[in-house]
Amino acid sequence: MIQTEHQRRAYLQALGIDVWVPSDQLEPGRPAAVDNDSVGDMGWPELRASVTECTRCPLHSSRTQTVFGVGNENADWLIVGEAPGAEEDRRGEPFVGRAGQLLTEMLRAAGQDRGEVFIANILKCRPPHNRDPEAEESAACRRYLERQIALLQPKIILAVGRIAAQQLLDTDTPVGKLRGQLHHLGETPVVVTYHPAYLLRSPTQKRKAWQDLCLAMDVAAGRAA
Ligand code: URA
Repeated sequence: MIQTEHQRRAYLQALGIDVWVPSDQLEPGRPAAVDNDSVGDMGWPELRASVTECTRCPLHSSRTQTVFGVGNENADWLIVGEAPGAEEDRRGEPFVGRAGQLLTEMLRAAGQDRGEVFIANILKCRPPHNRDPEAEESAACRRYLERQIALLQPKIILAVGRIAAQQLLDTDTPVGKLRGQLHHLGETPVVVTYHPAYLLRSPTQKRKAWQDLCLAMDVAAGRAA
């Protein structure tokens, strides 16, 4: 049974029905109601508010908070991972666990300070038990990443791990075959590499990840196209 007005709106939004709330019914301090159809026109503040309010897929009911992404809104590098894990869900920031520390070190090795790049995920909400994203969850979330890419216009997207690479590039080719070469998402160059969590388990693959970072550096610096 739907018990509250908030739940009613959440159900309607989950059904893909955009719900407008009259401004006199907004809670104080709460951003204006979100029209998800207009995500393509949003600037950063509206996009952030839209993600925070999102109820487009069932993951909203199990999240602690959304994980919008972090970093420089004028970054040349956009790092795209899979989805928030437990620690990210708690802290509201992507890549903050051990894998995040390794990602930070990888970026530093590539001459990129963590605060200078932008880091986001395919999903803005944590899937329960860190399972892979469901197709409808990725589809519901894709507009947000697309708008982040459009606002950033990065020189390079570094897709880390299978889920990010396959979903960004719309393919089921294994990550081992996608890495080591340049891809494009529209006009934007994309380099694929291994997920840092995988590199923690398989450190011998770090050499290949370094090659991918070198390719990303070359592309961002205009030395490879
Ligand atoms: N793994 C990801 O892909 N993203 C995160 O934010 C954390 C871990």
